[in-house]
Amino acid sequence: MNAFDLGKFEEEAQEQWTHTFESNPSNLEKCYLTVAYPYPSGAMHVGHGRTYIVPDVIARFWRMRGKQVLYPMAFHVTGAPVIGISKRIAKNDPKTIHLYRDLYKVPQNVLDEFTDPLTIVRHFASEYQRVMTACGISIDWRRRFTTVDPTYSKFIEWQWKHLFEAGHVIKGVHPVRYCTVDDNPVGDHDLLEGDKAEVIKFTLVMFQHGDAFIPTATLRPETIFGVTNLWANPNVTYVRALVDGSAWIISQEAAEKLALQDHTVEVQEEIAGQDLIDKTVSHPLCGTVPVLPADFVDPDMASGLVMSVPAHAPFDYIALRDLQCAGKYTQIKPVPLIKVDGYGEIPAQDAVEKAGITHQMDSRMDALTQEIYSAEFSKGKLFEKYGGKPVRVARDDIAALMIEKYASKIMYEFDTRPVVCRCGNKVKVKILHDQWFLKYSDPTWKKQVSDHLGGMALIPPEVRLEFDRTVDWLKDWACTRRVGLGTRFPWDTTQLIEPLSDSTIYMAYYTIAHKIREIDSKLLTPEVFDYIFLGKESPELPEKKKLEAMRKEFLYWYPYNYRFSAKDLISNHLTFQLFHHVTIFPKDKLPRGMVVFGMGLLNGAKMSSSKGNVFLLEDAVSDFGADTVRMFLMGSAEPWQDFDWRNELVISTKKQIERFFNTVLESKDADGEPHDIDRWLISRLQSHIQRTTEALANFQTRQALQEAYSGIETDLKWYRRRLAENSDGSRELHTLCSVWIRLLAPFIPFTGEHLWKELAGEGLVSFAPWPVANNKLINTRIELAEELISRTVEDIESIRKLIQITPKSITISIAPEWKHEIFLLIAKSNDRNTVIKEIMKDDAMRKRGKEATDTAKQCTTLIHRLPPHVVEPLAREPINEIAVFEAAKKFLEKEFGVPVHITEAESSEHAKAATALPFKPAIIIE
Ligand SMILES: [Zn+2]
Repeated sequence: MNAFDLGKFEEEAQEQWTHTFESNPSNLEKCYLTVAYPYPSGAMHVGHGRTYIVPDVIARFWRMRGKQVLYPMAFHVTGAPVIGISKRIAKNDPKTIHLYRDLYKVPQNVLDEFTDPLTIVRHFASEYQRVMTACGISIDWRRRFTTVDPTYSKFIEWQWKHLFEAGHVIKGVHPVRYCTVDDNPVGDHDLLEGDKAEVIKFTLVMFQHGDAFIPTATLRPETIFGVTNLWANPNVTYVRALVDGSAWIISQEAAEKLALQDHTVEVQEEIAGQDLIDKTVSHPLCGTVPVLPADFVDPDMASGLVMSVPAHAPFDYIALRDLQCAGKYTQIKPVPLIKVDGYGEIPAQDAVEKAGITHQMDSRMDALTQEIYSAEFSKGKLFEKYGGKPVRVARDDIAALMIEKYASKIMYEFDTRPVVCRCGNKVKVKILHDQWFLKYSDPTWKKQVSDHLGGMALIPPEVRLEFDRTVDWLKDWACTRRVGLGTRFPWDTTQLIEPLSDSTIYMAYYTIAHKIREIDSKLLTPEVFDYIFLGKESPELPEKKKLEAMRKEFLYWYPYNYRFSAKDLISNHLTFQLFHHVTIFPKDKLPRGMVVFGMGLLNGAKMSSSKGNVFLLEDAVSDFGADTVRMFLMGSAEPWQDFDWRNELVISTKKQIERFFNTVLESKDADGEPHDIDRWLISRLQSHIQRTTEALANFQTRQALQEAYSGIETDLKWYRRRLAENSDGSRELHTLCSVWIRLLAPFIPFTGEHLWKELAGEGLVSFAPWPVANNKLINTRIELAEELISRTVEDIESIRKLIQITPKSITISIAPEWKHEIFLLIAKSNDRNTVIKEIMKDDAMRKRGKEATDTAKQCTTLIHRLPPHVVEPLAREPINEIAVFEAAKKFLEKEFGVPVHITEAESSEHAKAATALPFKPAIIIE
């Protein structure tokens, strides 16, 4: 009994695969694939599944094509997230407990130990390995490591020594994203929201109000001359605080932020926002102005109060106009101060009226604001009475003047908000002193990266732009943290190297990971790594034999061929790793290519562990089978497209595998003599092999499956239809099955191994030779003939549906020779417009008159409709249609259950026969 049982196939294959994918240097050409390693703080979901299955399919493909393939995996456990998780579990936080106990299904006795952060990552690292193995991912597990292994730390210290010596590690005062709950700088990885937010430098304009200052933050200090009022939110509670000894009125949030930015802040009392309304403030550059109410003022944005320049800021203009429409503050008029070409005296009014904007909430307001700001910056000039300078010059001059003479200060704030830490706390900007940075802003370093990037293979090619942009805008990166797991920073051991900065060249470490652990980490000096990775000899290297073996591994495997990752890592990890590589490794060891993935959706919504919108990979494997999960993930979208997991579609994928399984079992032992239809099947198979191969070489898993699965299945259906009655097919089916199993093996390796054994294939299908298309088996004539027959069958079927009579006979009427001549001339011609004139120059054709021009037009239309793989061979040599149909007569009669007549159109009396065209005979149903 050989039933379709994916669970059984999985068991069988797993037994055979132990240690099978461990890969050592050999005489074969190498192919080294790596994927961004996981941070194992939770269970794997199907989105993770795709991340590791795509490289696996590619690894399996190249392995079968005879390359020595390395696909390693490790675990990233550096950083603070698991510390937060363990604290929350220790505190019995219900949300966290729910996530780990109910969603990730961690047994209670294990969960009890999660108060130790290392237990969490150890637990999930083992889970990851178990589930990846269950998915058939062909990893060399000997090379597994974690980023807190002592030997790995030695490697990181060596890497940083080189970065430091190259001048890329600097110490300085910088504003950084900071979480006050974790008391740590926050990297992209630590954010729930706002990873695109940038830190912006604002000037605080200090308005006097009694004995206190009211600061307002601006990016355009030059507009001080046009301030007509301040905006305060009447619903917000402000505070009076002593900031560096002087009294300021600011929002509560601003008080907290300023304390993080080198100010001493002492809150004295609360002030209701309402109490500020209609009070006056003054500034030497604009005089005395009132404070007006505005609900749009956000206490969490900079100081929590805003200065209003209605002549040049559309938001201010509309807000003032709204108040004035209600009859209030009608004495206030916009005060223009900048002349800019293309706008009237009051640019904000101009732009708002031109756009027909009637209220503040109009979605075009942001764009409009941006437009005026950039017009004024690039071509605006201050009025003569304000100095007459261009805006771009005046801006810095006035900011400097304000700081020097009018008590202004700098305040850092994000350009977009909210920015939220993984712990749930709002992230703020903090100025760090003695903070260590990687100097990604260095133009020379950037150039080295750009130069190398230019020669790299990037899949899909569209991502190149995003990489270029990232290299361009990358700023200095705070590379140490006070809290977390990881490697101590060599120049200040109270600090740790942060997670994204200790994970940039670990692909090189994989090459030696299984061997280096045999050496005591205390012996692993920088000289040891200099030898292994750079070939630098130095006296008294320990364990020289082992080092030589590692050097050999590195030289064999490196550089990696492709790195795979989700696209959200372009703006950090994928680009960082290039910066580090160009500094440390010689040119011939620099990365060759990257493949960037789209995101995963679950029933149309973004997958997110924290929101509970995930389907666990392990559940998917046990519900549907590993092969089903693999085939669905590879077939529903190309790797760089977003995919959507829907259980109902996954079920139909399982049915496809079952059909494949049954078809192979039914076909593999056929032993009939081959006929033309077998030659057709084998001829078609060559193009499926070729196209599947091309698609996989280009990482197009979906395209490859369409060829390898659907293409062959469709052919087989036609083949079975065309077989003579009582025939099970010929022995060629065995050949086809052997090819088919191998073409699908990278996608469904478990079913593949089982069937390969059924077929008595040699060894494991995982290492069986990839099929190679044999051009000698391609028979264009036979393919054309079948194409003609199948198209005619389709035509007959649709005509029959249309006329709705029970047919007594079918006549297929073949186009005459002269029509073939016309068809040929048009098919061959490069210019299908003038060719008709050429044809009509011929005497015989001219005699046919309108009939000939009509045929030429019809042939032109037909040629447009036919696929190139039909037109091209037809243009070389027409086929004998009469012979084709005569040979298929029995088949057609069987198909339609009535006598079929084949006639030449010119000898037919039926009017319809005149419509016959080459490759499209007239069909007469009576
Ligand atoms: Zn936090």
